[in-house]
Amino acid sequence: MNLEGQTALITGSGRGIGKTIALKLAESGADIVLADMTPEVTKVRTEVETLGRKCLNFKADVTDIGTIEAMVKTIIEELGSIHILVNNAGITQDNLFMRMKPEQWSKVIDVNLNGVFNVSKAVIRPMVKQRSGKIINISSVVGFSGNPGQVNYSSTKSALVGFTKSLAREVGARGITVNAVAPGFIDTAMTQALNESQQEVILQQIPLGRMGDPTDIANAVAFLASEEASYITGTILHVNGGMY
Ligand code: NAD
Repeated sequence: MNLEGQTALITGSGRGIGKTIALKLAESGADIVLADMTPEVTKVRTEVETLGRKCLNFKADVTDIGTIEAMVKTIIEELGSIHILVNNAGITQDNLFMRMKPEQWSKVIDVNLNGVFNVSKAVIRPMVKQRSGKIINISSVVGFSGNPGQVNYSSTKSALVGFTKSLAREVGARGITVNAVAPGFIDTAMTQALNESQQEVILQQIPLGRMGDPTDIANAVAFLASEEASYITGTILHVNGGMY
């Protein structure tokens, strides 16, 4: 995939899948904007710059629309435009529904769904103005299959399907594509939090017999961000080793 001349904003890019997406898009030639709440993001910036790409990094919380709008304004002033947005930031706060606290419900909705609204809302006008753009949302297999203990999380990941398909219909005529990648179980801090027996149960459901690697997701994102995917919009690309 050749992404030379493109600028990509990736949320939650301080570690895990987001970091791997940032490095993959940089390897493919894109300049990179990293947005995360963790200070780790500065280390990722050094890695991107080592690949010879321009990079900006922001300590940004996707739930704070004021910070996000200011960030997008700065990016446009400094790099000219945003061609690719990857809405990757996401959290889990698992609990069985009977025990789930309203705060656990609200916090996960706020980051995983309202966060996608905030960042997409901030970039959509500049994308419409330039009559091009690619928005890629990171959903999850559990948004399709459901998962005990994740009523909050899986609701947000299903909601991203409706978001992706509806926005794709609204902005297609403006040259903007909107797609989602739905990862299966990927080896990151998020899944390392699962205990051994939970991981064993998951492995038994994966025909390819292994957890995914963050690069499996980054490769799918790079494809959807590329010219080769220019006739694909409103679609969900499942990357889950066959488990769903
Ligand atoms: P992770 O926890 O390793 O990384 C998530 C990153 O998002 C962290 O750097 C964190 O600081 C950042 N973040 C959290 N809240 C934020 C906020 N409010 N504003 C900005 N940044 C914030 O998780 P991961 O496994 O790399 O997951 C990345 C995405 O992929 C998430 O949307 C997750 O739901 C999705 N996903 C992961 C898996 C998996 O198996 N790991 C499976 C399906 C989907």
